[in-house]
Amino acid sequence: MSFEDLDLHPFILKAIHDAGYTTPTPIQQQAIPELIAGQDVMACAQTGTGKTAAFMLPALHLLSTPSQLRSRGPRILVLTPTRELALQVSDAAKKYGKYLPRTKVVSILGGMPYPLQNKLLSQPVDILVATPGRLIDHIQRGRIDFRRLQMLVLDEADRMLDMGFVEDVETIAAATPITRQTLLFSATLDNAIDKVAAKLLKTPKRIQVASHKTKLDNIEQRLHYADDMSHKNRLLDHVLRDEKLKQAIVFTATKRDADTLADNLYAQGFAAAALHGDMNQRERNRTLTRLRNGGLRVLVATDVAARGIDVADITHVINFDLPKFAEDYVHRIGRTGRAGAAGVAVSFASAKDNMHLSKIERYTGQRIASHVIPGLEPRIKPRLHSYGTKSAPNVTQKRKRSPFAGYGTRSNFGAGSELNGNRNEQHGRSFSHDNRSNSFRNRNNSSAGQHFARAK
Ligand code: AMP
Repeated sequence: MSFEDLDLHPFILKAIHDAGYTTPTPIQQQAIPELIAGQDVMACAQTGTGKTAAFMLPALHLLSTPSQLRSRGPRILVLTPTRELALQVSDAAKKYGKYLPRTKVVSILGGMPYPLQNKLLSQPVDILVATPGRLIDHIQRGRIDFRRLQMLVLDEADRMLDMGFVEDVETIAAATPITRQTLLFSATLDNAIDKVAAKLLKTPKRIQVASHKTKLDNIEQRLHYADDMSHKNRLLDHVLRDEKLKQAIVFTATKRDADTLADNLYAQGFAAAALHGDMNQRERNRTLTRLRNGGLRVLVATDVAARGIDVADITHVINFDLPKFAEDYVHRIGRTGRAGAAGVAVSFASAKDNMHLSKIERYTGQRIASHVIPGLEPRIKPRLHSYGTKSAPNVTQKRKRSPFAGYGTRSNFGAGSELNGNRNEQHGRSFSHDNRSNSFRNRNNSSAGQHFARAK
């Protein structure tokens, strides 16, 4: 199937051609005809599958016909869990809609000044991309006219639910016309998602594409056991000096660890910077621009901040701390291996992390082989797996496919405060309770901060 078979407006096809896409991805092949036909759709598709274009191309196609209603309000509304994803979606809208006359794209995100947003909302808008918390504020102040809204997109709906946005999403949907077309994209379609879909979508067509397994096939996953923080830092230094590494994202558990680690890497001569939700939007944008321009080699980030980052030269993702959720592991390592390129995902773990690792492996259906770097061998004995192969500490060992086929959903690896903290990031408000619990984690966990504080 080619894009020409999808009946998209010729100006959209021209922009797709400029983007260098030749063939629609599976989610695009399945979703676009349904969406052009006006059908509600709930799609199980992860980042990296081309899901953004799967909803944005039909949305733009809809804009190619003028609205019957005289109003300035948005015709398309996309809700995303994070600011970074919202900016990514806005960029996609501008990229694919650049030849269409009516594609004014506005992003309404937490952490941005209200006066600017008020000004943007007072002008005609075609596509509004927003995080739920801030959008609610504007709706409650009567600043958005949804009369001509035709399409509502819930992007990464599972994550919006995880972050506690479900009520906000429902309130926003209730403010839009009942005649709208509704699309829901999610990494998993489980009961919680079904409940939301039952409320907001009309006899949706369900679409499911490539599972976590196939999506990760172009990413080599490696595990390094680390005895302590000093060992972890030496391993990181080794990985970052790999000459095949063009750009890397290093994930830490907390915002403070991201800052500390980035500062220390910078002091060691790496072009490194941090990205997390305590930074204001301007700082975050500046850092992302440096990453895209190649001015940064190492980005040290927390989960939410890094979601949606799409930079082709990211060859390595390093889990300095393992994620709490198995699906975050998939999102994290999906920052590399973009658009079919090869990528490397390195995870550092301690003996305590074996249960987490098993959960991740069950979720992805893939085994993460442990590697040992000569001179940096761990004192701890690598784990034996309950299924399949034993860990063989061998530098050249490649990832083996696990015979374990089943994988669950949303495995929670612990009762941390990060998700609550993340929600606050989106609202651009501060909640002292969450800040306290984050610093509690900093004090009690073996964090980068601790190590470097000791080392100084
Ligand atoms: P997404 O899943 O929306 O995060 O998209 C992942 C990446 O795939 C982005 O870099 C897109 O630019 C790219 N992409 C989307 N559709 C196609 C396509 N049909 N062919 C090649 N690349 C694509």
